Amino acid sequence: MTQNLVTGSDRSHLMPTYARLPVSFVRGDGVWLYDADGNAYLDALTGIAVCGLGHAHEGVRQAIANQAATLLHTSNLYEIDLQARLAERLCRISGMENAFFCNSGAESNEAAIKIARLYGHGQHIDNPLILVMRGAFHGRTLATLTATANRKIQAGFEPLLPGFVRTEFGDMRAVRATTKNTKDIVAVLLEPIQGEAGINRPPKGYLKDLRKHCDEHGWLLMLDEVQTGNARTGRYFAFQHEDILPDVLTTAKGLGNGVPIGACLASGRAAGVLGPGAHATTFGGNLLACAAAHAVLDAIQEDGLEARADELGQRIRQGVIDGLKGSNLLNEVRGLGLMIGIELAEETKGVVQAAMDQGLLVNCIGDRVVRLLPALNMSDDEADELVSRLVRTLQRL
Ligand code: PLP
Repeated sequence: MTQNLVTGSDRSHLMPTYARLPVSFVRGDGVWLYDADGNAYLDALTGIAVCGLGHAHEGVRQAIANQAATLLHTSNLYEIDLQARLAERLCRISGMENAFFCNSGAESNEAAIKIARLYGHGQHIDNPLILVMRGAFHGRTLATLTATANRKIQAGFEPLLPGFVRTEFGDMRAVRATTKNTKDIVAVLLEPIQGEAGINRPPKGYLKDLRKHCDEHGWLLMLDEVQTGNARTGRYFAFQHEDILPDVLTTAKGLGNGVPIGACLASGRAAGVLGPGAHATTFGGNLLACAAAHAVLDAIQEDGLEARADELGQRIRQGVIDGLKGSNLLNEVRGLGLMIGIELAEETKGVVQAAMDQGLLVNCIGDRVVRLLPALNMSDDEADELVSRLVRTLQRL
């Protein structure tokens, strides 16, 4: 397949922070992305779990166009009815009480971290600590990269923030052992399924046990659903697979289907922590972003996309297992709904480019995991096409 190579000079005024692939897309339609030469790619990554409704979704498109023709932005100095109604809808869906809107996943976690610290100070703890996990990814701002477990992401940005303690993910015994002699823990922050670390699911019952432990110790349970939220795992939020409610819940990515919006939701003792003046953002929850998010929620509800993500996830996971049966390529296919990790028996080097040669967009995390985060509203035929392109890619490696 020919690719429209982007020349070096085109990038010369961009900071070289990304190792970009040599392709640029000019148009999207559902699960398909097209480059300037008209080559079509089946998008199994959706901008890393952002365009859950696919590209150029009609409802989102219309909502954005109507809002742009009416009013884009006022200010959080004024009432914003669309924002208040979005908070109400997200709270009804999640069981949370209130929401703060921002523009990204990292910012939603910044809000959570600020809630935890303020909550701690409210209890006269001068140096409140937040328990975070090995393998965690929470963003690239200074606080969130400190909470993130990846040394490569932190290196060179020292001094990191104080106030974080790390333990093993998915292991209650590790939680107890790590915190046994630490008095000042006020919260635990974790992803219900770790995304960047390789689609890692904790053992069943872990979140419930953690909820109980938090209650016993007065800690806030703070879930980062930036990647797992917005119906990706087959429920609107991944914690809803277990019978619990967090104190703080963050999300972003799929909430605006490409229009930047994030949210930090709170309940119970966490809901009253951020008072007037305690936190703010210029753009967060503006009319355009909220209009897009309402259209996303409409589509998820009207098209039954939670159930559909579950169905499609099973179909794709089984398809990959069947397609690679008899080969010794596969270690494990894991995940929930349409958050899928395919762990290979060997390194994934070359897989992304080989998939692109088959007209398929995926990415790889760690050394061995191919990650799929496709659109929640794809057809069965499109899901089967995704599987067959992926199987072909892996068989030809
Ligand atoms: N938290 C999780 C679980 C994520 O997967 C990500 C992004 O991949 C983030 C936070 C950071 O989100 P953003 O890149 O929008 O700041």
